[in-house]
Amino acid sequence: MTTEQKKVKVDIEGLIGQMTIEEKVGQMTQINLDLISKGEVYNLQQPHELDIDKLKTAVLKYHVGSFLNVPGYALGLDHWLDVISDIQKVCVEESRLKIPMLYGIDSIHGANYLQEGVLFPQPIAQAASWNPELVRKGAEITAYETRASGIPWAFSPVLDVMRQPLWIRSFETFGEDPYLCEVMGLAMVEGLEGDNVSDPYKVASCLKHFVGYSWPEVGKDRTPAYFSEIQLREYMMPPFVAAIEKGAKTIMINSGEINGIPTHANKELLQGILRDELGFEGVIVSDWEDIIKLHQFHRTSPTMKHAVQAAIEAGLDMSMVPHDYEFSELLVELVKEGTISESRIDESVRRILKLKEELGLFEHPVRPPSDYSKLSSAEHESFSYQTAAESITLLKNKSEILPLSAEQNVLLTGPMANSLSMVNGAWSRTWQGTEEERNNLEKPTVLDALKEKHNKVTYLKGCGMTELELEDGWEEKVSSSDIIIACMGELPATEKPGDIDDLTLELAQLEYVELLAKFNKPIVLVLFEARPRIINRIEKLCDAVIQAYYPSEEGTPALADILIGKVNPSGKLPYTYPKFVNNLLCYDYKITEGIDDAYGMGAFNPQFEFGTGLSYTNYEYSDFELLNGESASKNDDLKFKVKIKNIGSRDGKEVVMLFIADRYASITPSVKRLRDFKKLFIKAGETRTVEFEVPAERLSFVGRDNKWILEEGDFEALCGDQKISFQILEG
Ligand code: BGC
Repeated sequence: MTTEQKKVKVDIEGLIGQMTIEEKVGQMTQINLDLISKGEVYNLQQPHELDIDKLKTAVLKYHVGSFLNVPGYALGLDHWLDVISDIQKVCVEESRLKIPMLYGIDSIHGANYLQEGVLFPQPIAQAASWNPELVRKGAEITAYETRASGIPWAFSPVLDVMRQPLWIRSFETFGEDPYLCEVMGLAMVEGLEGDNVSDPYKVASCLKHFVGYSWPEVGKDRTPAYFSEIQLREYMMPPFVAAIEKGAKTIMINSGEINGIPTHANKELLQGILRDELGFEGVIVSDWEDIIKLHQFHRTSPTMKHAVQAAIEAGLDMSMVPHDYEFSELLVELVKEGTISESRIDESVRRILKLKEELGLFEHPVRPPSDYSKLSSAEHESFSYQTAAESITLLKNKSEILPLSAEQNVLLTGPMANSLSMVNGAWSRTWQGTEEERNNLEKPTVLDALKEKHNKVTYLKGCGMTELELEDGWEEKVSSSDIIIACMGELPATEKPGDIDDLTLELAQLEYVELLAKFNKPIVLVLFEARPRIINRIEKLCDAVIQAYYPSEEGTPALADILIGKVNPSGKLPYTYPKFVNNLLCYDYKITEGIDDAYGMGAFNPQFEFGTGLSYTNYEYSDFELLNGESASKNDDLKFKVKIKNIGSRDGKEVVMLFIADRYASITPSVKRLRDFKKLFIKAGETRTVEFEVPAERLSFVGRDNKWILEEGDFEALCGDQKISFQILEG
């Protein structure tokens, strides 16, 4: 640590002792940049400028301690540094107690709200790499570039487990399996925070969104979830529990409701589980406007004052208000009249000040004068490329139609083929990510990237997002091609704007592929999607299918390299790709959900299974064994071993997944659960041995009393096409 980064000890208790109630409440208040900018909220002056009078009202009158967000679009580095330093100047030079403010930003896939920030594939794609090292590295770069812009707090990672594929924010998650989410989430927290968040290249992370946000019954954003405590603990909580144990600094609350109780007013969850049971000591921040929503939408609070009281009593530390001072005024009133004790708000203020201290904000309210020469460097970009290269998932490759050969005339077509927004997804320079001109326009679209690598590429848009766009001469272009690459998918979106009534891919796109199929050329369908849109009508018309997720503008060359065969694909689906809109089972369904009307096991009938991902080589699994023998005790580590041979002629990376099925249990068991995985490089012709060491305890489930339990009995372990049976005995 250089002298410049040396931390001074802040006398937090001394500060709290000097603070008025108004100053304390101000620390608990977070407002949007709009409120201190010139122009109207949601209709700011362009280009963006801070409004110093409004800023002074926020800081000097209301003592606001935290700010967030962008003025509608990403800012350039210099502008960010000006914004941060202007706000800090008022906080540390003009305010009575000189407490620095804390800025938070949605760095979801890279520093996406910094114009120069390197974008990474969206989290769902990162999960599809099954390579936590890449996720960690991506998060390190995200932290570096976010901090470079003067911002020390990233609202990331999303640890919601994707159990409802209709939910638009599926792409922000690490998929449908709690264990995969846990491993990837931990890697992201480690990459963002490191060992010490005062490091000038680290930021505080924010675990989102505690808890249950991703399982809305009807699938729309911020709509009610209904599930039992067993499901809460078994599926929703594990990634949060692991990240909290790791020491993650902050957590954001689920905007929705579970079993009729809005999470922001759920004391059993926030105080009972999060604080008391899990021992979370960091800052709990609300999500956007969620105290207001308790009154306006959830209607559990007849007045705004009641809403503020309910959220504070439930355990909230900071309110993302974000556009007025009503929260502050009402909370001051509640404390002054004695409804909420001053010691209660002291607890929150203590946590917030501690976070500011840990981030080094008292000595460096503006970012430390460190070297940020790697910002948007080729090195950072290459990690994003690599992540995309390992995540893009080959789902089908009939007659080995891919890779393309250099002689083939390629027709590249579809709404996603020549747009940066369509490969970046939401949270890219803007919230929804759909304003093409806000992108860094020198970056390559799929068309640009493929043209760089293949000499015979013709482009035809052919189809927009929701309607055919057939230009003159389109038939000639299709007829003269040898192979068609159809880039289809969904318009980037997040949150409410991404709600849909039908998971089926847009009709126009389905019809367009059907039209193309009439020309009897091989078709490669490449998907760019926030969630798995139903494609069963066209899948059979396509020889190859690739899930690109939103690979980002650094990932388009990776896609091109996979298409031409320079990169051997190794991504695997982190979710089950459904075939039918009314059959949205996850891979770990219950046996009764798998039974069909012929009393076979045909009811689980997805388009592509969880974990699917082809390669340009093949692997053969053999000699799967449990080194412990035929049984192990509850306290043992289960030691598995399996051999994998690359039997093709190309080097490749294989993800080896270990699933375990509990045969009989006091709660109906799933058909199988992912319990471990490893990704490894295997040369053509080479055989490698993989060992797994799984604590038997990991086979536990949440029992009838809502507590984790491991029952003795029969189990099956599955790895590739290998299967072994074993028993767990009393310890
Ligand atoms: C989203 C959060 C986000 C916050 C701040 C909310 O609407 O749900 O994920 O961090 O806004 O932008």
